[in-house]
Amino acid sequence: MAIDRSGSPMTAGAIGSEKPCLIGATREEMGEMLRSIGVADRQIRMRVSQLWNWLYVRGVSDFDHMTNVAKELREKLKANFSIARPEIVQEQVSNDGTRKWLLRFPPRGAGRPVEVECVYIPEEGRGTLCISSQVGCTLTCTFCHTGTQKLVRNLTAEEILSQLLLARDRLGDFPDRDVPVGAMIPAEGRKITNIVMMGMGEPLYNFDNVKKALLIASDGDGLSLSKRRITLSTSGVVPEIFRTGEEIGVMLAISLHAVRDELRDMLVPINKKYPLKELLDACRAYPGLSNARRITFEYVMLKDVNDSLDDAKLLVQLLKGIPAKINLIPFNPWPGTNYQCSDWATIERFADFINQAGYASPIRTPRGRDILAACGQLKSESERMRKTERLAYEAMMIVGHGEDD
Ligand code: SAH
Ligand code: SF4
Repeated sequence: MAIDRSGSPMTAGAIGSEKPCLIGATREEMGEMLRSIGVADRQIRMRVSQLWNWLYVRGVSDFDHMTNVAKELREKLKANFSIARPEIVQEQVSNDGTRKWLLRFPPRGAGRPVEVECVYIPEEGRGTLCISSQVGCTLTCTFCHTGTQKLVRNLTAEEILSQLLLARDRLGDFPDRDVPVGAMIPAEGRKITNIVMMGMGEPLYNFDNVKKALLIASDGDGLSLSKRRITLSTSGVVPEIFRTGEEIGVMLAISLHAVRDELRDMLVPINKKYPLKELLDACRAYPGLSNARRITFEYVMLKDVNDSLDDAKLLVQLLKGIPAKINLIPFNPWPGTNYQCSDWATIERFADFINQAGYASPIRTPRGRDILAACGQLKSESERMRKTERLAYEAMMIVGHGEDD
């Protein structure tokens, strides 16, 4: 059963002030921020590295914990900047160990506070955090729950990164505060080993903020996540694909889902703008591609829509020459959808075919479905489910589990 700890905010001093936030700033920007409060030029580099270490290696969210920073400077930092975490509106734990957080960020300018979801999926030997890049989505993929929520706004770099920092706090994934300053902190045994930009939103429609956040997440003097363990998933924003490889250098996943333009136009409407040929050409040109660095093609299994053996054959032909793996995702149902997940036997037949053609084709085990944390089920509580919807959904889940598990 899901544990639901909804209710009062769980993080003291959550992001909410008008003060600029140090989290999400590049080193240069942080240096400028320090200069603006009177830190001497010759000290800037040293102070930036100190702060970088406190924020990203040790995960502090309170200036008072920065014990090697003089009290006077700490007070100045406190008066001018924020390093607080977002407010946790709800934390749920699925019966399979998956965790989902509903986070609230304060208004930007004249806007309203916004809420996004972030999901942690523990697996044998690794743990993946699924991060959101936007509140809602402008694209309207017909099988996706997020696609039914209008775009409210892009998340800032700080808000994207805060999801990772907060998840590490809640999972106890930062070292103890008592470890002496300067001590080596082991990278093994971490709970979050991988991150995927597969939460709410289209990350390539928020390129600059996603880039900034991912470059900080992979910075070797901070959070130190290897770029090979960061995957960005796009529905196919062709003009930004090359830049993703060139400027961010993370692994790429493409939400393919159909192998004929006619069907993809319907399932993933951005296909009308950037059809399959253009999309696959952009994939072929992705910087750094090799057999060791393949593109993941995501393919949601929709009953009687895209799951025939002819589809599988065409898929293999289409991907010829691209170092690729194919991730088959059993469709995760949500209230109000007309789609159904393919039968298990059909999914296995599809997987066997592409496997025999030489492609790794793992079937993604649905995780956290009982708390609506699985792929494509995220939708923030600003559009919270009504009770009638929830009951209908629960009835559907009983059927869903019978089929798949
Ligand atoms: N907007 C980006 C990233 C977020 S979606 C993108 O579309 O790639 C993450 C993955 O979940 C995508 O492959 C998406 O197509 C898939 N997905 C969406 N809804 C789903 C659902 N109901 N069941 C299974 N997968 C779904
Ligand atoms: Fe947006 Fe991705 Fe959902 Fe499509 S699948 S609506 S691009 S979040």
